[in-house]
Amino acid sequence: MSNTPSFSNTEVAFRSKTTGELKFTALIFRLMGSPGLVSFSTNLTTIALNLRLPIKWIIKRTIFKQFCGGEKIQECTSTYKMLQENNIEAILDYSVEGQSKESDFNQVKDELLQLVENAKKHAKVPTTCMKITGIARFEILEKVSSDSDLSQAEKQEYANVISRLEAICKKAHELGVKIYIDAEESWIQIAIDRLAEVMMQKYNGSSAIVYTTLQMYRHDRLEYLKTLIQKSAQNNFVLGVKIVRGAYLEKENNRAKEKHYPTPLQPTKKATDNDYNAAIKLIVEHINTVELCAGTHNEKSAELLCELMSEKKLPNNHASVFFSQLFGMSDNISFNLADKGYNVSKYLPYGPVKDTMPYLIRRAQENTSIAGQMGRELTLITSELKRRNK
Ligand SMILES: Cc1cc2nc3c(=O)[nH]c(=O)nc-3n(C[C@H](O)[C@H](O)[C@H](O)COP(=O)(O)OP(=O)(O)OC[C@H]3O[C@@H](n4cnc5c(N)ncnc54)[C@H](O)[C@@H]3O)c2cc1C
Repeated sequence: MSNTPSFSNTEVAFRSKTTGELKFTALIFRLMGSPGLVSFSTNLTTIALNLRLPIKWIIKRTIFKQFCGGEKIQECTSTYKMLQENNIEAILDYSVEGQSKESDFNQVKDELLQLVENAKKHAKVPTTCMKITGIARFEILEKVSSDSDLSQAEKQEYANVISRLEAICKKAHELGVKIYIDAEESWIQIAIDRLAEVMMQKYNGSSAIVYTTLQMYRHDRLEYLKTLIQKSAQNNFVLGVKIVRGAYLEKENNRAKEKHYPTPLQPTKKATDNDYNAAIKLIVEHINTVELCAGTHNEKSAELLCELMSEKKLPNNHASVFFSQLFGMSDNISFNLADKGYNVSKYLPYGPVKDTMPYLIRRAQENTSIAGQMGRELTLITSELKRRNK
């Protein structure tokens, strides 16, 4: 018998939310359902924040509240506890991107070290995550990715990036905390892939501490996964891999068009879905040497993973399989999986409102552009409100 939970059980999905909170969430998703409004507000908000106009409080009470835990770690405590009470791990995500000064990168490194310690103290399965662009200048990653020559100063700058990453992964290894390295734009990803591989080889002995991320909207990632599986077998380390579809669709396609090169992305959504599902299938086949985090809000992919686990007779809480969703999205998947004993986590971003804007804009665009995503959230909330009224 399959162990797949029903993702339409709204009583379980929303048991942590009051009726008032559900109505608030419905309003946010309704607003995000209008592409015109999202594009207009995105431009307006960016301009207003740059001009230091006092609009922070509007953002903090609306979209920030829906998708982020707070501005500081301490503000996330109640959300963190609520998730844990429902058997869901919170992965605190310091969502500061696009910095450019060495002092900023060092500050992010210090914050990440604190996150590692925090995870060790508070989580059942201590896990954290990071973006390499939090500790490195975008342009230096771009230069390394295109194999351009670095000046003496740039060589030193890149050595500083490596030493910051090394400090974080070393601490994670010492404390047994897993660290997911996020995937970003394809034109800096070669550098990120190399850094992640070096850290995995160094710190993933008999279990995965460092995880790399593969975006299956890229047409070359299934092949890369096969290469990584081979490399980990040859070099005797456990591969840690987070599989996602990818968050920079428009940006990738626009850049490819502007610069006249073939898009690195799949030709269709279907092709992305096929590779996503093929990737999780391949990983489950190699589950003795690969650890998986399936980061997805797609019900079919989550169901497929449950079925694959069941076919291979893996227990729901198998230590090498994690499901993960973003905070504020797809509680129907997270809470129903956790209810059936699967390992579930939610990325819980936090950081100063202005610095989380790139993250919030991606969430707004994702919920606007994906047919069905926003509608599905609204349908589920409406059905739960009806159920409660009865
Ligand atoms: C825990 C977690 C961690 C994450 N980490 C990362 C990360 O490190 N890097 C990152 O980039 N993203 C990351 N994401 C975001 C993730 O990429 C998006 O949330 C995800 O793409 C949404 O897809 P879905 O799997 O939920 O499924 P769906 O909603 O079914 O798929 C939507 C996705 O399909 C793809 N798609 C849509 N239309 C097309 C098309 N026409 N052609 C090809 N592909 C298409 C896009 O990737 C789109 O986002 C993470 C998400 C989670 C939950």
